[in-house]
Amino acid sequence: MSHVFPRHCHAAIPTAVGGDGCYLIDADGKRYFDGSGGAAVSCLGHSNARVKQAIKDQVDKLAFAHTGFFTSEPAEALADLLIDHAPEGIDRVYFVSGGSEAVEAAIKLARQYHVERGEPQRRHVIARRQSYHGNTLGALAAGGNAWRQAQFAPLLIEVSHIAPCYEYAERGEAESLADYGQRVADELEAEIQRLGEDSVMAFLAEPVVGATLGAVPAVEGYFTRIREICDRYGVLLILDEVMCGMGRTGHLFACEAEGVRPDILCIAKGLGAGYQPVGAMLCSKDIYQAISDGSGFFQHGHTYVGHPIAAAAGLAVVQEMLEQGLVAQVRQRGAHLEAQLRSALGQHPHVGDIRGRGLFWGVELVADRATKQPFAQKHGLAGKLKKAAFAEGLICYPMPGTRDGKIGDHVLLAPPFISSEAELDSVVDMLGRAIDKVL
Ligand code: PLP
Repeated sequence: MSHVFPRHCHAAIPTAVGGDGCYLIDADGKRYFDGSGGAAVSCLGHSNARVKQAIKDQVDKLAFAHTGFFTSEPAEALADLLIDHAPEGIDRVYFVSGGSEAVEAAIKLARQYHVERGEPQRRHVIARRQSYHGNTLGALAAGGNAWRQAQFAPLLIEVSHIAPCYEYAERGEAESLADYGQRVADELEAEIQRLGEDSVMAFLAEPVVGATLGAVPAVEGYFTRIREICDRYGVLLILDEVMCGMGRTGHLFACEAEGVRPDILCIAKGLGAGYQPVGAMLCSKDIYQAISDGSGFFQHGHTYVGHPIAAAAGLAVVQEMLEQGLVAQVRQRGAHLEAQLRSALGQHPHVGDIRGRGLFWGVELVADRATKQPFAQKHGLAGKLKKAAFAEGLICYPMPGTRDGKIGDHVLLAPPFISSEAELDSVVDMLGRAIDKVL
């Protein structure tokens, strides 16, 4: 019997022993195509020579140096490379070990920024319903999923939630895309006014919503309006690109497609591509300057901040993406995947919506296409689908809908950027067979 404390105490899962390109291999030798990159992590597949070599070289040179005493070459180089390609105004990179830590650091930095500038009354965060920003207490509080929070509620900071931008399910029949986008963005202004015009420190959102909705981009104009509202009320805009960033949507940073400039940007997953646990919180020059001119010290800091081996892996990942033209490849392969999904599943009686960007796609399953009525949660569809796909040799990421029955189950696809067209075709075949098996 193993002494590992697993995610699910009663699930018997295979032991992964190897990785080969886009495939994972279990102890029985079975190969699984990693159609979701785990949870949108493994963007370069599982055997990238450059990243593996960079890690080996860094271990030989320097394994660890605490950032209270030293900076390190790979952390400096990775920060410079990210800033070279970051949205306008973003100037500093604070390294962490994953997505929740990046969001946690973002919330704390937003708070410290306002306190140092003499506005300590700004303590409210606004985020969106049906969102996920991580599992540490601050990030969990920011997420808009009541059932994840229920038992921890007494430990969580207060966060208000407004509507997500999710036009498939929530746009009115007679409403244009533009009107819908403005209406849901304007909820931010209403919530700021309700809380008090100078009491909100930050608004937090994913540019393309990953796990909780299934690769849902906002409608055009939504984030422009959000930016205007944030500027009007002195609220910092934190974009969570932990899942959708680092090339996944066909842009190195997902917010490029929105033409919107965040004040703080969180990245993780694809930054280390699974080779090392690494994430980062990037912030604007203004925010950095306020801290630098004030206390001169961001009141945060974990032991493994800026870990040299994690930074070396992240550096090799970003260099590989840029030098191999992988972000452009994501756009091209993404168009292929979209076409295959639409042709194989677009008319399926239980596929309500297919949406996404780049190599980040969601397929929403419904009981009735005409009414968009989701399956009842007791159906346990997401769990059955995950199992059926796994039996086919496909790793995908099905998520159950909401317990109030308003939002249906969906499957998230986030295959490695190096997937060939033939491999993407087989992902669609395997997914189609799995859907037909369970419905
Ligand atoms: N933010 C988003 C949008 C995520 O999808 C996730 C993880 O799925 C997180 C934050 C938390 O990241 P991590 O699991 O690396 O802590």
